[in-house]
Amino acid sequence: MNRAWGADGGGPGSSTAGARPDEVRRHNRAALLRRLHVDGPCTRATLATELGLNRSTIKAVVDGLAESGVVTEAVPAQRTGAGRPSLMVLPSPEAAVVLAVDVRVEQVAMSVVGIGGQVLGRHSWNLHRRTRTPGEVITHVAESAQLLTEELGVTPAGAGISVPGVVRRDDGWVHEAPNLGWRDVALGARLGAVLRLPVRVGNDAELGALAEHVRGVARGATDLVYVSADFGVGGGVISEGRPLRGARGYVGEIGHLPIRPGGRPCYCGSRGCWETEVGEAALRRALGLPEGGPRGVVVAELRALEAALAAGARTNPLGEFAEWLATGLVTVVNLLAPQLVVLGDLFTALPPCVVDDVRTMVHERSLVSRAVGGTRIETSPLGRDAKLVGAAELAFEPVLGAV
Ligand SMILES: [Zn+2]
Repeated sequence: MNRAWGADGGGPGSSTAGARPDEVRRHNRAALLRRLHVDGPCTRATLATELGLNRSTIKAVVDGLAESGVVTEAVPAQRTGAGRPSLMVLPSPEAAVVLAVDVRVEQVAMSVVGIGGQVLGRHSWNLHRRTRTPGEVITHVAESAQLLTEELGVTPAGAGISVPGVVRRDDGWVHEAPNLGWRDVALGARLGAVLRLPVRVGNDAELGALAEHVRGVARGATDLVYVSADFGVGGGVISEGRPLRGARGYVGEIGHLPIRPGGRPCYCGSRGCWETEVGEAALRRALGLPEGGPRGVVVAELRALEAALAAGARTNPLGEFAEWLATGLVTVVNLLAPQLVVLGDLFTALPPCVVDDVRTMVHERSLVSRAVGGTRIETSPLGRDAKLVGAAELAFEPVLGAV
């Protein structure tokens, strides 16, 4: 969280010495709003303690936000101690809303999200070969966004878009999204023009990591890796509390770690990539399912396997799959030393005993995991929604500072 600045402009760490009073006010307002957005309603007293500000400064900021309808105040239901209770400060979800869009290979999901992360409305539609082109997707997003926001009676302040591909963060340029068949698409600029909104575009796994960090299983963790399997396999990294981006934001193509010399050819130009051993196609092979077809069949097969294993079935067709998953994760853990690895998307459907085997193998084979006290490996509680939640948070970043 952003630390607030002291009322005298020389707040914690005195990094603000010399800041103008209006800058200090704006910064404190954004810090307070971010606190309410991420952690929910709380009392003025708690805000004062957490943000390191005195009560009169909190009062001034909250009064200003209440006047513009961004927060409301209420007497807390449960009073503690004697004396006058500190008022609860609640964000008003509709005071600032964003549009979140998750572009997947088979589907586009869209939601309108208010301050505090409340989903005010959502919509989704399926994609097939003809409707998957950038032009078709952009047109459909614009039309659906208009219908959804009109129905809700809200005007978004920004939009966040998740794309399974290599995305330039500065301007939302999609270099390659192989599973969508997209190459060199000025998605940020084109969507910004039709939506008439500031648009930020992010790689899907990077946004999955952001979502888990802000609202999922990784809240409070400073170092985490989110690894997800959809058609492809991608990763998002939070290191020391911040997204690890690399040059122009291209970190995270861990699906293309070469792990099997002489393995299957991959569309990236290499062979034996991790994705070829643990992506959806590999999972279908392991389960004896035909190539392609609906995702639901894979999930149903995994559920049946889970039930069979729980009932004592001796043979597990995912033994080798688990080996490859663990092999890649050992490299990821040794390289990035996360406290936590979050397995997202299709990985969340793996039977728990398979995830347990992967945990054991990673712990036994990664000296870094052991050194950090055992890297936790968890499945994503946000599941299919993680990237949509991350897209909303991406859009909120500049919005909270401008409300
Ligand atoms: Zn590859």
